[in-house]
Amino acid sequence: MSAELLNGSRLAQRVRSQIRRRLKKLTFTPGLAVVQVGEDPASTLYIKHKQRDCEKVHFHSEVHRLPTDISQESLIQQIETLNTRSDIHGMLVQMPLPDHIDKEAVIDTIAPHKDADGLNPVNLGNLLINREGVTPCTPTGIIRLIELTEETIAGKHAVCIGRSPLVGKPVGLMLLNRNATVTYCHSRTADLKVEAQKADILVVAIGRSEFITADMVKPGATVIDVGINHIDGRAVGDVKFEEVKEVAGFITPVPGGVGPMTRAMLLENTLKLAIGG
Ligand code: NAP
Repeated sequence: MSAELLNGSRLAQRVRSQIRRRLKKLTFTPGLAVVQVGEDPASTLYIKHKQRDCEKVHFHSEVHRLPTDISQESLIQQIETLNTRSDIHGMLVQMPLPDHIDKEAVIDTIAPHKDADGLNPVNLGNLLINREGVTPCTPTGIIRLIELTEETIAGKHAVCIGRSPLVGKPVGLMLLNRNATVTYCHSRTADLKVEAQKADILVVAIGRSEFITADMVKPGATVIDVGINHIDGRAVGDVKFEEVKEVAGFITPVPGGVGPMTRAMLLENTLKLAIGG
């Protein structure tokens, strides 16, 4: 058996088309601001992609490039200014930040109603109490990919490997909100293989190349590979795709799975913030 591919690139294209259609009913242009501190080349590339995505859906986007040695106070001031701008509906601060900046304090400063990444504690708190508003982009994209399978999430056993606040923890909560039974695994899990084998839905977000092998996957499971790792200049996931696809029922590729959906969800969050819902 070979798993059905969950094509994130194609689904992201559909999301962008829907956004363009919804935009026709608006009398204003949604605006996204991205704040970059320093010149990390990977961050610069990610931001370029985000700007290109905005162009594709005719959003206004702007990038605020700030020097690496900017003080925390000045950075917070810049964010506060963006909070007050009526033409900016969503914003994000590109990570990583330099060591002298307190990342949590920065995220706390982004007004919850401008929080395009859905990482402000208010939005994460709403997610915790099953009042999902703006939710983090990668987990939201993962849920959309799982929905592509047209299988009900309720009652399924979901196993999230990885518990970061960016991916693992919120995706587990989103699955729980949809009535899955959720197990979290992490670096201290006693027998990860046994836990993974129980998963009807297996979400892997650890950042370890091809860590999940076929013997760790329940036949017919939905496998979501969040990892982006590089081997000899080639992007590979956390899942050993070639062998796991022979066991899984559905699987996301890397690249072309979760990545494009993360970017599409940023656009969707911006639109949601722009129309206030
Ligand atoms: P992170 O903050 O480094 O968290 C990694 C998580 O994996 C931690 O919870 C860690 O456990 C766990 N872990 C690490 N090694 C493990 C092991 N051997 N066994 C079990 N658990 C292990 O990473 P992240 O931000 O969540 O990102 C994870 C991966 O997803 C990375 O490859 C990243 O590039 C990728 N990513 C992709 C997208 C996308 O759009 N496609 C978006 C975000 C991230 P502890 O908590 O115990 O340390």
